[in-house]
Amino acid sequence: MKIGLIDVDSHNYPNLPLMKLSAWHKAKGDNVEWYSPITSGYCDIVYMSKVFSFSPDYPYSINADKIVRGGSGYAIKLVDGVEVYDKSADIDLPDGVEHIYPDYSLYPEMTKDTAYGFLTRGCPRGCNFCHVASKEGQCSVKVADLSKFWRGQKNIVLCDPNILACSEWKNLLQQLIDSKAYIDVNQGLDIRLMTVEKAEMIRKLKVKAVHFAWNRYEDKDIILPKFQMFKEVTGWGYRKMSVFVLVNFDTTFEQDLERVYTLRDIGYNPYVMIYDKEHTTGRDDVRKLQRWVNNRRIFRTVNTFEEYRTGELR
Ligand code: SF4
Repeated sequence: MKIGLIDVDSHNYPNLPLMKLSAWHKAKGDNVEWYSPITSGYCDIVYMSKVFSFSPDYPYSINADKIVRGGSGYAIKLVDGVEVYDKSADIDLPDGVEHIYPDYSLYPEMTKDTAYGFLTRGCPRGCNFCHVASKEGQCSVKVADLSKFWRGQKNIVLCDPNILACSEWKNLLQQLIDSKAYIDVNQGLDIRLMTVEKAEMIRKLKVKAVHFAWNRYEDKDIILPKFQMFKEVTGWGYRKMSVFVLVNFDTTFEQDLERVYTLRDIGYNPYVMIYDKEHTTGRDDVRKLQRWVNNRRIFRTVNTFEEYRTGELR
């Protein structure tokens, strides 16, 4: 069979479902290629995968017997300002495809000495600005061992939504430690679930940096002692620990500023994320806050937001 693949989001980040579909078809002896409306001609099946809802859909006609569309990008809709995941608009990969070793050759540059994958799926939190719980379930469950997608590469990019919530966290962290590879937990770690034992294991991971989130202002009393404890156990400095701060969702600007200042004071590096950035008309404040905080050099030299804003006006 002739199989065409379309990464609807562009080719800026490796698309795991397409890498797995490619590996599965190649193992069956099928011909797999990136689909091109000019050079591909007829295909038996074309798979289109879209991770981000804001990516425009594929604009060209497709010459194929069967077209399969999947990915969160097709299933997430904004309803009353909140992301809702519509399962009927997405497809699950069959088990045999989901657990296959990915075909990294689709993205040779980005996967050079780097493995990508999930050890767990799901998250118990159910934050209403996030679709993970409705897509993957409101429980973090182990879905693979590291050997499913890693074969000695120097770097591992872990896409798990909440590995610390999984009952098998200890075994999974040990697998990552034993790999001696550089680990990038790209969805971050849930600081609310941090314990001394977890922090001691994370300290043993080879990481360039870790990131957390302080999205809900009301978590303040739970997470600040956790941040203190994590810093004491690891001995790491702010260059190695960043914290996403979600703004433009349900916090006031004063609460946004408080989170930014507090994190800096306790030795972490805040990183401002704007919720629904495309629709921030009238929110110049959060855009300026993001520009100030996320430029580390400026953030570390201009002490307050007021000073930054005054400087910008000059
Ligand atoms: S903790 Fe993270 S992954 Fe879990 S629901 Fe909230 S934002 Fe999503």
